[in-house]
Amino acid sequence: MNLFDPLGIVACFTIHGKILIQSVWRSGVQWDDPICDEEYGMWQRWIRLAPNLDKVKIPRCYFQGYRPSSYESLQLHVFVDAIELAYCAVAYFRILDDDIPRCALVAAKTKVTPLRPQSIPRNELCSAVLGSRLMKSIVEYHSLKICRKFLWTDSLTVMAWLRADPRKYRQFVGFRVAEILSLTAVDDWYWVPSNLNIADQGTKWGDGPSFEPDRLWYNGPEFLLLPSEEWPKRKQPSEAPADELRTVYVHRLKTEYCRTYIIIVPKDHPATNLLILRYHQKYGHANTETVLNELKQQYYIPRMRATVKKAIKSCMWCRVYRAKPCTPKMAPLPQPRVKPYVRPFTFTGLDYFGPLLVKRGRCNEKSCKMAIRRFIAKHGPPQELYCDNGTNFRGASRELAEEA
Ligand SMILES: [Zn+2]
Repeated sequence: MNLFDPLGIVACFTIHGKILIQSVWRSGVQWDDPICDEEYGMWQRWIRLAPNLDKVKIPRCYFQGYRPSSYESLQLHVFVDAIELAYCAVAYFRILDDDIPRCALVAAKTKVTPLRPQSIPRNELCSAVLGSRLMKSIVEYHSLKICRKFLWTDSLTVMAWLRADPRKYRQFVGFRVAEILSLTAVDDWYWVPSNLNIADQGTKWGDGPSFEPDRLWYNGPEFLLLPSEEWPKRKQPSEAPADELRTVYVHRLKTEYCRTYIIIVPKDHPATNLLILRYHQKYGHANTETVLNELKQQYYIPRMRATVKKAIKSCMWCRVYRAKPCTPKMAPLPQPRVKPYVRPFTFTGLDYFGPLLVKRGRCNEKSCKMAIRRFIAKHGPPQELYCDNGTNFRGASRELAEEA
């Protein structure tokens, strides 16, 4: 038996042969040994379908009787899916012929999963890689202008991975996501419910592959024949599984090591100073006791307290923010202000001030003299009277001196 199917037209049939060969290989059976009953049953089931391959008739051109202008609306739809044993990608062209959508199978590709089992999300991701590569080769080998590309997957995890930073994930996921994003645009990826995902038919046996020309595999999923508004709605990607996130092993090893052994550090090395300052800053510019306590859990420094104190002293932040303002030195008070054992108003200051409620003309020497007299009548004569060098005060002073 010879099978030549470079476009994967009957990939939904051949994949089950590949799965069977892998299963036989995995069982470790030798060339001359009979295969187990279950695999024999699978083989019988598969080979029985082979004669039906004659029914497969594929038209030479994608769309017969089309109007050339309808190719202006050409879209490429790639569906991907994976199961435990295999993954599949299948591509369709879609055009609008007189506003009526038409679909045609372009190519399909299937692969068995590696011998070492891997998780379903990883398989789904591999199917997405397969779909991206298939899309790239279809675009390269056709001279037709494709106006829009769609990639459909039923895995929300894959959708989440494609939208996250690939560097955050382990190599397996990171490399594959990077490859997918180099071949396709993230906005070309759409979610499709599993029951509408046509790539599902490429991997699951179900009732067995059928080769009738009206089968969905050859004509595309039904929803593609509807207006785009009725296609499955874009779903928000779920949280990507955390077990694929990259773990910093070095760090974990280091902390485990440190928990067991105390590290001895020299007291006057610049690195020691930096280490102390790191702890000091980590705990919000902590005091000596806190830094000592935290350091002692992992390190031993000879003359630790003095070393830590010295290092903290060199912290510029602390110097600036912990500095106390120095109070300026005051000149000694003049003698009359502090003179003891004299009655009040012995030394009196004199001045005029603005906010008077009643004002009768300008204040002159006479009014000043009167005010002083009233003051003396009330409080007794002052020993010294201070005032500024105003003209009315000078006049009053002169007059008072003359009167005396
Ligand atoms: Zn500090």
